[in-house]
Amino acid sequence: MQFSRKIRLRPAEIEQEGLYGHCLQFYGQPPIQNISLAQFEQLAVDRLKLLKTVESLGVTFVKMSEQYQNKLRAEMAGLNFPVRADAPLQGSTEYEKRQKDHISHFILRLAYCQTEELRRWFIQQEMDLFRYRFTQLLSKQKSEFLHRNSLQYHTIEDADKKALMDKLVHSSYGSSGCSVEQQDFYKVPFQDALDLVRSRKVFLKAGYAYIPHQDIVTIVLNDFRTRLSKALALTARSLPAVQSDERLQPLLTHLSHAYVGQDYSIQKSVGKVSLEQIDSLSVRSFPPCMRHLHEALRENHHLRHGGRMQYGLFLKGVGLTLDQALQFWRSEFIRGKVDHDKFDKAYSYSIRHMFGKEGKRTDYTPYSCVKVILSNAPSQGDHHGCPFRHSDPELLKQRLQAYKVSPSGITQVLELVMGMHFQLACQKYFELTHNVEDAGFSLNHPNQYFVESQRLLTGGRELKREAEAPQRGQGPPAVKAASALPEHPSTSTEVAEDLDSFFQED
Ligand code: SF4
Repeated sequence: MQFSRKIRLRPAEIEQEGLYGHCLQFYGQPPIQNISLAQFEQLAVDRLKLLKTVESLGVTFVKMSEQYQNKLRAEMAGLNFPVRADAPLQGSTEYEKRQKDHISHFILRLAYCQTEELRRWFIQQEMDLFRYRFTQLLSKQKSEFLHRNSLQYHTIEDADKKALMDKLVHSSYGSSGCSVEQQDFYKVPFQDALDLVRSRKVFLKAGYAYIPHQDIVTIVLNDFRTRLSKALALTARSLPAVQSDERLQPLLTHLSHAYVGQDYSIQKSVGKVSLEQIDSLSVRSFPPCMRHLHEALRENHHLRHGGRMQYGLFLKGVGLTLDQALQFWRSEFIRGKVDHDKFDKAYSYSIRHMFGKEGKRTDYTPYSCVKVILSNAPSQGDHHGCPFRHSDPELLKQRLQAYKVSPSGITQVLELVMGMHFQLACQKYFELTHNVEDAGFSLNHPNQYFVESQRLLTGGRELKREAEAPQRGQGPPAVKAASALPEHPSTSTEVAEDLDSFFQED
């Protein structure tokens, strides 16, 4: 792909190549269009939103159930991805939608080829998306798709069908309710249908599997996974060359850690939360990662720099002012081994820095779940990170018990954790602890958890500030100066790393 500020699309050329002639593709050919960096990012973010929805729906509903399909269709339509398989390509926006599908897939390949974990996640979501889209195709469109992609799955003749009738009925149609005569059967080498062979769902003869039409998606999906997996491995090999482009490198890093929602840096509640409220809020409305950090801080009167970064920025997002933050950290630290002098020298600068009052005066944003989950894993003595991702399952179970989650609730949460759906496990925890069946949002950010919790618990009312009082006998009451937060804080990785360097004091 080449990138420039100017858009130079060449539809005729692409159309000639037949890339967008079918609404679905195997993404065998990389895009050759010129797009701007802004478009590059927008396309990637939209596909990421779609894939996150695919993940979330796949855990919330039975895959391919009516609700699953309806919600996925709505999300695709909302994000302008191709929805209707029979939409005419000419004279409509369908061409642009297919183009968006094509380019955005390749951009995320670049971002998600970097580690095994990212690759696995990307392949799984792309496969689920592909399965949904393939099953929406009419029979004729499926055949056309197979033909276009040189997938040699030939249907068997009626005469063969008759000859094998008994075997086909017994091996394939026990529960489908369709007669063999009404269905096409594909004859494929058995090694292309191992999943179906393994589950004894198909008739085998002379090294060939006879796949009923309803199951052809399994074969196509296998093929899709194999191709995508190889393509990601190849992309990973050429990644150093792509990353040497200084325009792309930060974008790709940001995308693989991307959070696609609100950044929670601008809080309506700034200055409306008192330090007195934090203990009770941590129990009622903090996500487990922050509740654990709060408990560790109260217990040890200290947090190492990873914990201070994660918790400090979260509290800032919750609404603490700079003065409150200074008072909060000071009051706790001096109860441990740090005296006033040491606190002023070693810690207060970094807190001021976090609020954009020192150094480059950048106003830092709270960490998203993806950042907490994927970067800076905690080591011995650390309390930061995401409990669903970084805790031993037994420890997590104990913690959930201590948080009064029911045994059946704990089982549900642990099942999601085992499936590596950490944010969904947290969302389930939210539902269990707030006594709601459906959280009604897709969790992406610890501060989003807090906001949604407060919305539920207070019925949408603003946080009510309690009377300000000296914290644990410390100094004068907090000064209620609202910090002047810039409207558009920077979120770049470079800036976050820069801040890290100010927090090295343990
Ligand atoms: S999923 Fe997000 S909010 Fe929940 S514990 Fe993990 S990092 Fe915190």
